[in-house]
Amino acid sequence: MCNKAEWFEEIKPFSETVACASKNDVLKIEGIGTVPGTLNGKKIILTDVLYVPELNGQLISVKNIQNTGYSVIFKNDIAVIEKSSEKLEFARLNEKGQYVSKFEPTKTSTYFVNHSAELWHRRMGHSSNKVLKEMGLPVSESPSSFCEECVIAKQSNTPMIKGPRRREHLPMRMVHTDICGPIDPPTREGKKYFVTIVDDFSRFCEVHLLKHKSDILEVFKLFIKQNPDLYKIQCDNAKEYVSGELDRDCKKSGVMIDSAPPYSPPLNGVAERANRYLLEKARVLIYEAKLPKSYWGYAVLTAAYLKNRIPNQTVGNLPFELKYGKPPDLNIIKVFGCDAYMRVDTDNLRKKLDPKR
Ligand SMILES: [Zn+2]
Repeated sequence: MCNKAEWFEEIKPFSETVACASKNDVLKIEGIGTVPGTLNGKKIILTDVLYVPELNGQLISVKNIQNTGYSVIFKNDIAVIEKSSEKLEFARLNEKGQYVSKFEPTKTSTYFVNHSAELWHRRMGHSSNKVLKEMGLPVSESPSSFCEECVIAKQSNTPMIKGPRRREHLPMRMVHTDICGPIDPPTREGKKYFVTIVDDFSRFCEVHLLKHKSDILEVFKLFIKQNPDLYKIQCDNAKEYVSGELDRDCKKSGVMIDSAPPYSPPLNGVAERANRYLLEKARVLIYEAKLPKSYWGYAVLTAAYLKNRIPNQTVGNLPFELKYGKPPDLNIIKVFGCDAYMRVDTDNLRKKLDPKR
């Protein structure tokens, strides 16, 4: 039994309880899986490990070791596992009278598959089975599985026009950008537009919500400051980009604004495609969460967050990983719009019989 999700290589949902130490304490088992690791330099794979998040430490059953045909011998404060000529020191007695193993988990996995295919489908903003599979997440193979949100929001697969253009070799040197809006209704904060900035190398996309189109000036001022390697901004020729202060500001910082010629939108396809994708995802998220349309801002920001964490067809990797050089932590992702509880830390604020949340 193990309380550390990150130790598992593979973990399947499992819901049962286990009685442990104290008779009154029944702990919930949330999964069952495999934990790889080493013991005194020897590779060991523990199978059928129960994932029990509330367990206070890790426990291994002597009986289960014996069931696989090994003997466990306790002698001179050392526990040894034996099978014919194979011998392995497994654990040593500590001062508290407990046998403690030096088992070291390999911790290879970046996320764990503890939940159902359906939950991961919703957490990842109704991503397709193909995408989920590529990420090593569970997918529903059952032909009867049906997702209402997916059908109603009718997610289209925008075809990709592959150009002859070469991609950048480093992140945050060249970006694509596009403004979307005005969107009706505005958000509760009065935002009517959003601007997308897509990194050419990683396809990492950043979204900012705007009250006015002209607010992109402030967005890019900050963006240029944060990304000193930037040399080119690819955009359509919306006048907010090519005239006035933004253009002057960019020139001063040595950044070129490349506006695609009029009537040839495919040249700025990267940012436009991103915006279309974000709007479609946002529509699904709002529908699923049953939130009013004025929450579109949160939905678009969430859609961008998810887009950066799922494989991108063009670059063949996760944009997040290409930009930051490490995989994202998917365990922190929750379904958009799900209930959340805030812990109230100050006991005084809570009356004696109030629930402890
Ligand atoms: Zn769906």
